[in-house]
Amino acid sequence: MAGLVSRRRPSGGRTALALVQALALVPLALPLGPLPALAASALSAWRLNREGQLELRTAPDLPVRAYYEAGRGGIGPRVWFDLPGAPLRTRTIPGSGQVRQIRVGQPTPDSTRLVVEFQPGTQLDPSALKLVGTARDRWRMDLTGLAPYGQQALGEGDIEAPAATPAWRQGPIGAPQPRPGGAIGPLSASGLPEVDRGRFKVVIDPGHGGPDPGAVGIANLRETDVVLDVGLQVAQLLQAKGVQVLMTRTSEVDVDLPPRAALANSSGADLFLSIHANALSMTRPDVNGIETFYFESPRARALAQAVQDEVLAVSPGSPDRGARTARFYVIRRTTMPSALVEMGFLTGELDAPRLADPAHRRRLALAVSRGLLNVLRQGP
Ligand code: ZN
Repeated sequence: MAGLVSRRRPSGGRTALALVQALALVPLALPLGPLPALAASALSAWRLNREGQLELRTAPDLPVRAYYEAGRGGIGPRVWFDLPGAPLRTRTIPGSGQVRQIRVGQPTPDSTRLVVEFQPGTQLDPSALKLVGTARDRWRMDLTGLAPYGQQALGEGDIEAPAATPAWRQGPIGAPQPRPGGAIGPLSASGLPEVDRGRFKVVIDPGHGGPDPGAVGIANLRETDVVLDVGLQVAQLLQAKGVQVLMTRTSEVDVDLPPRAALANSSGADLFLSIHANALSMTRPDVNGIETFYFESPRARALAQAVQDEVLAVSPGSPDRGARTARFYVIRRTTMPSALVEMGFLTGELDAPRLADPAHRRRLALAVSRGLLNVLRQGP
């Protein structure tokens, strides 16, 4: 499935392709709190090198949306990126080679748009254009189709500045809790298990989305936000290990359950994981815990248990509700080993503050990734 979808632009009626939706191969946006109005631009630096690789440095953990528009008439194709915060000044930078010009614009009072406009006739392959998050504050897009060495390197700002500290180091987090029967290694991206690069494909399904917020818990914590954040981070972590990741959604869109399963089944993926958070009644803050569901097969059971164990290991004190069978649609109708993890209760007094904490969500993403990678390593 393509990671692109047609998007009708609000003005002018031109059609653009938004690189933000279902089954994109890469996470395109990291979740975030809203910025204060008129904050400074989140764009810190950009560079387009001679090989046609575009890099962005941004404020950490912010959304970047990427768009493509085909050329027509005497106008070349364009790729643009929208980020929060206003630029200090709008400007146009002359291009070279197939790059006609680069513009830093302000489409709304508190947003920045970086536009790369190519010469008329330039042929880019939009299906190959992916904005890849390479760190919390780094993004890269290969402008596939651009003749190599066709232009001088262009850029503004210090693209080489040190990368943002990983979120998992920022919170008030102690060492991960050891658990009986399993030694847990350092819980960091670099400490995750290695697998054969390029061999595996995993579908990550952040539950709910769009008009369906899923469960809503204490302090209006929404399941859709929690699971999208964790899902996108899992995708990045797995991709960094050479695992191809398909996401059923990468932004706040609604995807029905049958398409989620169908897309997973047609992808030939090795594993499928649906990510959720539980809720009970607001009057039951005493109910907390982690549970993971699977449907029938021994491999699915092993997957569910692996994810359950890892999530429990980063959720000290939260009860183990077990890896159990269930008949949820997405795990029943997917053909590869599938599981559905409930990472805690949005209504639980222990779980809810954790699920609201970006540092804990980072740990959850690392834990889920570790479980998935270990299952891939063990093979069929
Ligand atoms: Zn759910």
